[in-house]
Amino acid sequence: MEALTEEELIVSRGGWITMERAIGQRVHQGARPRRAMREGPTGGVWVIVDHTGDEVEDIALELLGQARELADRLGLSAVAVLLGDDVRGLAPLLGQCGAETVYLAESPLLGAYNPDAYTPLLVDLIRGQRPSIVLWGATDQGRDLAPRVAARVGTGLASNCTRVDLSKDGLLVMVRPVYGGKASCNVVCPQARPQMATLQPGAVPAKRPDPSREAQAIAVDVSLSPQGLRLRLEEVIKIPPSSLDVTEAEVIVAGGRGVGSKEGFHLVEQLAHLVGAAVAASRPAVDAGWVPYERQVGLSGKTVAPRLYIACGISGVNHHVVGMRDSRAVVAIDQDSQAPIFQIADLKIVGDLHQVLPSLIERLQRLRQERGTAEDEEVLRTLANVPGARQVS
Ligand SMILES: Cc1cc2nc3c(=O)[nH]c(=O)nc-3n(C[C@H](O)[C@H](O)[C@H](O)COP(=O)(O)OP(=O)(O)OC[C@H]3O[C@@H](n4cnc5c(N)ncnc54)[C@H](O)[C@@H]3O)c2cc1C
Repeated sequence: MEALTEEELIVSRGGWITMERAIGQRVHQGARPRRAMREGPTGGVWVIVDHTGDEVEDIALELLGQARELADRLGLSAVAVLLGDDVRGLAPLLGQCGAETVYLAESPLLGAYNPDAYTPLLVDLIRGQRPSIVLWGATDQGRDLAPRVAARVGTGLASNCTRVDLSKDGLLVMVRPVYGGKASCNVVCPQARPQMATLQPGAVPAKRPDPSREAQAIAVDVSLSPQGLRLRLEEVIKIPPSSLDVTEAEVIVAGGRGVGSKEGFHLVEQLAHLVGAAVAASRPAVDAGWVPYERQVGLSGKTVAPRLYIACGISGVNHHVVGMRDSRAVVAIDQDSQAPIFQIADLKIVGDLHQVLPSLIERLQRLRQERGTAEDEEVLRTLANVPGARQVS
């Protein structure tokens, strides 16, 4: 049997991919849109939904807010595309957060992200429905999947954007950092469609769900064969939160120049480990080589919006704050009571972090021994009781 070329594997025949040459029988790979979808409206602003299987990821809700806004301005509909195994329970929230339509593709073979399954499915959907704009999260999945789909449908992709907007003539303006974040550029895709961008998690706020809103769920016929999938998920290995990508962490402990040295960062790492947080840093800490660049938060680093952000020895210069100001709660530890970071902190701790952190770590270790885990409230209570801590309203 002749080997199929990559192009043959992905070429769509009548909207779906034929694998018969590959395995000697007629098996279809990809999505076969139902009649209603083929006849449905073209255009629209799409969001490819990131989820855990049980929950919609925050980034999807952030993108839906953007999609809703763009769709309203363009007079189009906002559409969520949900791929997974038995995920229809997630569709109502997508409607409440702005989607008018949810395309629902369900199959056990879509349970875990697999580019061999997801790529042809989305390529078929996009070719069939011709959205005007497709937004993706700049997550592990979005970063892998969006370029594959863009290449196959023959359009462009602006990756890792911090913002999207519309030009006067209705083109999507995709704003992304360049030259290591020293500048940002506006990208437009004037001819090819759809216009596609991945957006950094936390870059735009999510809209509150509106329980009165509902989306129309449209099932997509999925016809996938395990033989057509070159990749198979063997095992999921959970990595400790401290090594999580900062954009995906729910709790972050960040250190700045005030930490003083690479050795000083062990205290930051210890605290992060105790509270189940990812470690992040300001630019001087990265420039000094204490922490790798991928952990830098700020204008030329990453944008984060965790539940809790604990800043240690970070003064709060705007270049840093732009990357973390959407954190739900901010705790700041700094020896200078006038440090600007305190203006955005919910809890301020004025003191030398080399004294504050060991005392805090000891208290949290005791708490862990007594209770097993430390919830956010307990961490905050412990922090608030550290000498020098002051709650600000
Ligand atoms: C184009 C551009 C892009 C930039 N991008 C970024 C970016 O992405 N991220 C970023 O962070 N910065 C960025 N910067 C740099 C930014 O301007 C600041 O220089 C930087 O954020 C300051 O980092 P810091 O708060 O760690 O250091 P500092 O401003 O020096 O603050 C250190 C703080 O630690 C406190 N301190 C010192 N010792 C102790 C102690 N023992 N105990 C407790 N507190 C102590 C001090 O009181 C001070 O408040 C950028 C700059 C430019 C020009």
